[in-house]
Amino acid sequence: KTVAAVLEDAAAQWPDRDALVVRQQGIRWSWRELNQAAERVAAGLVRLGLVPGDRVGIWSPNRVEWIVTQFATAKAGLILVNINPAYRLSELEFSLNKVGCKALVVAPAFKSSNYLQMLAQLAPELDGATAGALKLARLPAMQVLIAMSESPPPGFLSYESVEKSGRPEDYARLAQLREELQPEQAINIQFTSGTTGLPKGATLTHHNIVNNGYFVARRQELTERDRMCIPVPLYHCFGMVMGVLGCATHGAAMVFPAEAFDAAEVLKAVSEERCTSLYGVPTMFIAVLDHPQFATFDRSSLRTGVMAGAPCPVEVMKRVVADLHMPEVTIGYGMTETSPVSFQSRSDDSIERRVSTVGTIHPHVEVKIVDEAGKVVPVGERGELLTRGYSVMLGYWDDAQKTSESVDSRGWMHTGDLATLDPAGYCNIVGRVKDLIIRGGENISPREIEEFLYQHPKIQDVQVFGIPDARYGEVVCAWIRAREKGSCNAEEIVAFCRENIAHFKVPQHIRFVDEFPMTVTGKIQKFVMRERMMEELA
Ligand code: ATP
Ligand code: MG
Repeated sequence: KTVAAVLEDAAAQWPDRDALVVRQQGIRWSWRELNQAAERVAAGLVRLGLVPGDRVGIWSPNRVEWIVTQFATAKAGLILVNINPAYRLSELEFSLNKVGCKALVVAPAFKSSNYLQMLAQLAPELDGATAGALKLARLPAMQVLIAMSESPPPGFLSYESVEKSGRPEDYARLAQLREELQPEQAINIQFTSGTTGLPKGATLTHHNIVNNGYFVARRQELTERDRMCIPVPLYHCFGMVMGVLGCATHGAAMVFPAEAFDAAEVLKAVSEERCTSLYGVPTMFIAVLDHPQFATFDRSSLRTGVMAGAPCPVEVMKRVVADLHMPEVTIGYGMTETSPVSFQSRSDDSIERRVSTVGTIHPHVEVKIVDEAGKVVPVGERGELLTRGYSVMLGYWDDAQKTSESVDSRGWMHTGDLATLDPAGYCNIVGRVKDLIIRGGENISPREIEEFLYQHPKIQDVQVFGIPDARYGEVVCAWIRAREKGSCNAEEIVAFCRENIAHFKVPQHIRFVDEFPMTVTGKIQKFVMRERMMEELA
């Protein structure tokens, strides 16, 4: 199926059921209404002269226009390029030019950033330009800028005017495209989170993301009676594939609590909309569980959901099951390059398995774990995780070199993650190959030390990483968020470690911080912490 067909089929099958609730914009649409809006915008995009294969960027937090644009570009055969809402100008310029975006759909603002002003800064020619036929020095491929605003500044078209501009011949063209578009074609360029460095643009097909959305939802046993709370960003595959396509393939309603993650809004949305499913990365679940008014919100409608994207401390997972009332919650593991999910637990897996593993492999995906020489390791032993199947991306856009470093000639995606598989096929993600600490020849898994430190009652959250060291090669550092500020000191942490873990695992440098450096997807950027520690110690 194509992405467009997913929505059209949902509109045919569940015309009047809730498709979409966007609380921050007061929107409540059925599948029929969502499909009609997407069709209108698609016709408008055709009118603008955009043709299949053209790249259209979207730079916006979670808003209704995001979802409409996702399906509208799919109907018109355009490749949607997800731009991170947190980007500053140089990153925006880099990614738009990297993939040669011809059009950009842009929100007015996000948090303290005024996107329209930022673009005017990047392209001063906009003042006085004819909207829809742009020539911009720093964005050479860009022809059209579309603002989600009723009174857009000079050089921009309004989203509404595009939506209203389709003529009968444009709708006729869309009908033709319905026959012509192939599921194997590229539909989306998604940038990775940038957890380990500069984000990379993964090119994905209809086939990649439609099937992945379907299988992720199927593991949660979603039906049209479910209502999914989606606080994760749409720009990331967690939102647009696992959220939007997961719901659209099963007829479940999507509920967006806010433009960006906010623990209170999540709790409100869950209780007022009677959500049955909730998504998030572990940091989001931690924030929801720790919200001061947590106990006053009704969580009883919740049943399932997915926690994915980063390792989840066992203690947190236990609280999600019990306190958040998500007895069937699943853990997911994946990466942007594999559309994204390849491992997920099942609702009937024991709690023990759901808290300690990322579940079993998804249908139609193969897996192996190899050592440094590429040889498959014995069951239970640790090595790099490789996956292969329908879900592997076409490649990084315009970067054959990086693509061949990640996807080998036999189609295996080298994930860069360290994992073990047990005899029943349950996978445990040990950490990233790059994050492994090698101290004086000892391989140390930061994850193991983090799990250990979580048991300390004064520690709320902890991150462990290695930094270069002249004597040992690398040494262990820990950044800690204490439950109560100032309540805890390095000496007591070291003493706690000395008593319980091997001496070489005891962190040499401990810092107490209020926050960790994070991507917008809520992932913690160890490379940034590493750089800061190295500067501090230099
Ligand atoms: P970049 O590749 O730009 O550095 P990133 O790898 O974080 O960023 P994503 O594609 O969003 O970008 O995330 C994929 C990675 O997230 C995986 O390779 C893995 O390291 C981590 N991950 C995902 N799910 C889990 C999970 N359930 N447990 C542990 N780690 C996970
Ligand atoms: Mg990655």
